[in-house]
Amino acid sequence: MVQNIMLFGYSKKISVKCVLIIQVILLSLSKGANSHFGYSESNQRRWGKHHGHCFGKLQSPISIQHSKSVPLHMPAIDLIGYHNLLAHPLKLMNNGHTVSVTIPKFSKEDIEGGEFNPYIRGGKLPGVFEVEGVHFHWGDRNNRGAEHVINDIRYTMEMHIVHRNKKYEKLADALEQKDGAAVLGFFFTLDDSDHEGLAAINKYLPLIENSNESVYMNSTFTLSSLLSHIDLDKFYTYKGSLTTPPCSEAITWVLYPEPLPISSKQISRFRQLQDSIDGALVDNYRSLQPIGNRRVFVRSVNVHHTQLSKLENEVSYKKWDWFF
Ligand SMILES: [Zn+2]
Repeated sequence: MVQNIMLFGYSKKISVKCVLIIQVILLSLSKGANSHFGYSESNQRRWGKHHGHCFGKLQSPISIQHSKSVPLHMPAIDLIGYHNLLAHPLKLMNNGHTVSVTIPKFSKEDIEGGEFNPYIRGGKLPGVFEVEGVHFHWGDRNNRGAEHVINDIRYTMEMHIVHRNKKYEKLADALEQKDGAAVLGFFFTLDDSDHEGLAAINKYLPLIENSNESVYMNSTFTLSSLLSHIDLDKFYTYKGSLTTPPCSEAITWVLYPEPLPISSKQISRFRQLQDSIDGALVDNYRSLQPIGNRRVFVRSVNVHHTQLSKLENEVSYKKWDWFF
């Protein structure tokens, strides 16, 4: 009898082990090479082994210095449909590297009824870009987390709103092109009160604490609610890349320097998430990349220009290239 029980226990252990092994195999098959990357310094140096673009000359993030950026009169970025409720259901996922909100396309009927996915144009954007998703980069401590450094400040968190050039149908195809995508970057700094717009996402984080967990949000929200009331007239823009493998050099970056607020309770929910390898999903930001021969433009909003200088600026706006 005792033997039987032991045998039963043993075989049960084996079967649990087998199931685990099969799960791990299935997981690694489904994840593919793309999602195997870590953020430790040695891991980051290896990104380029499987993704050659990561060794490219137009990589992101970079450190932006106002004094070194080129002031340029250019149109603001039009955020069209940012005040409209997004199509739903919205899927929120912990993919082991970040938390992402995937924004679905409206159905044909909805589009005929006047709905549309938010899109952006203006600035030095090479076209019209439709929203694809939102994700975040954050730190284990308040003095780190953002990817871009602005005037020597590394903020607590950075939010990326990813857009696909509308002339390409799929994001994967767009990322093969120089003008394929545009990312709006926003920074967060610690504040006493909650960021109300962010609460729509934040409240779901405890449901996706583990890597590869996802949840469908039971309500939708507007992109503008995530942006609080910051000044959208001033921004930096430059040509760069995805900040995760495959590091595609397809991104026109637009970075807004005025930070958004986030409470310590809200940031702690991000820090409680788990990744697939090391445990806590924190410090998911890439190290700074060389600027090389790139120019960073800053939108100059000098209202005191004459008609003549306006004309000159128009010329210079077209003439100024992204590169030296
Ligand atoms: Zn990002």
